[in-house]
Amino acid sequence: MLVVMQEGATEAQIQAVIDRLVALGFAVHRSTGVVHTILGGIGPAAHFDPTEFAVMEGVKEAHRIMSPYKLASRHFRPEGTRVRLGELEIGGPAVVVMAGPCSVESREQVMAAAERVARAGARVLRGGAFKPRTSPHSFQGLGEEGLRYLREAADRYGLLAVSEVMDSSQIPLVAAYADILQVGARNMQNYALLRELGAQNKPVLLKRGLSATVEEWLLAAEYVMNEGNYHVILCERGIRTFETYTRNTVDISAIPVVKKLSHLPILADPSHGTGRRDMVLPVARAAVAAGADGLLIEVHPEPDRALSDGAQSLRPDQFEELMGQLRMIAPAVGRTL
Ligand code: PEP
Ligand code: MN
Repeated sequence: MLVVMQEGATEAQIQAVIDRLVALGFAVHRSTGVVHTILGGIGPAAHFDPTEFAVMEGVKEAHRIMSPYKLASRHFRPEGTRVRLGELEIGGPAVVVMAGPCSVESREQVMAAAERVARAGARVLRGGAFKPRTSPHSFQGLGEEGLRYLREAADRYGLLAVSEVMDSSQIPLVAAYADILQVGARNMQNYALLRELGAQNKPVLLKRGLSATVEEWLLAAEYVMNEGNYHVILCERGIRTFETYTRNTVDISAIPVVKKLSHLPILADPSHGTGRRDMVLPVARAAVAAGADGLLIEVHPEPDRALSDGAQSLRPDQFEELMGQLRMIAPAVGRTL
């Protein structure tokens, strides 16, 4: 913590800041410059609001030095985290592709999707059984029936399965069928859900909230980790900006930013990120080139008939084309596929 006092700050104002720093557990180092007095607070205190200091009498500015998250910070594990699931490793040298329909709609649909994505090289089958739809009148997912089909399809084609948990009450059910528990963008700050997932032993795929800063996102990961589950995989899925051409704006720079700030693996979801099938391939290529540890891609055997997110779902042949491109891009950035 660094507090810069205003020019001419009184001794009483300086002392008030020192007292507050000491009360929070900081050791205080005072430097008196020609114009400004600077107070450096050294210590483990992570839970404070720098604005509390910024608004004190006589203070010019106040800056936090340590990140507010600890377990999710790069410093906690400088070598990076590899989330292991059997033979699959997320965060290792291989780029891991997770693909499948937005929602599980029928046994036939998810079987057809699984067959094609597995053959093209995907390692994890995606498919929602509980869907966070913007309208309550839209298809809400098949629930347990959908999870059963997802598991069956994943097992038949040698894939792992990822599916969304929208509410704490769904955790036991989704965990009984899926290998990875997905937290949707709308739930990134559902702290009760994050805490419950922290008590599970399955990896959590944590999507970035629609308008979440990277710091808020890493603090959401911290909630899960703070309960003991360190298997968190982040997923950049686009944020809301003033641009309307695409559904969201994919923050490609969030990938290197997260790599710098955190040890957690990070995926990109160009399907929700762009909302358009014709934009998924270029953005997927960009994400891998930028250092993403994997991708989450919507693929539907017949996107024009999809019950959710058809416009952004790839046809299987487009997914094959993408995988072919990634086989060239991954080695160019020191990865395998
Ligand atoms: C999804 O993956 O189908 C989904 C609903 O994603 P998001 O939470 O990113 O909107
Ligand atoms: Mn979707």
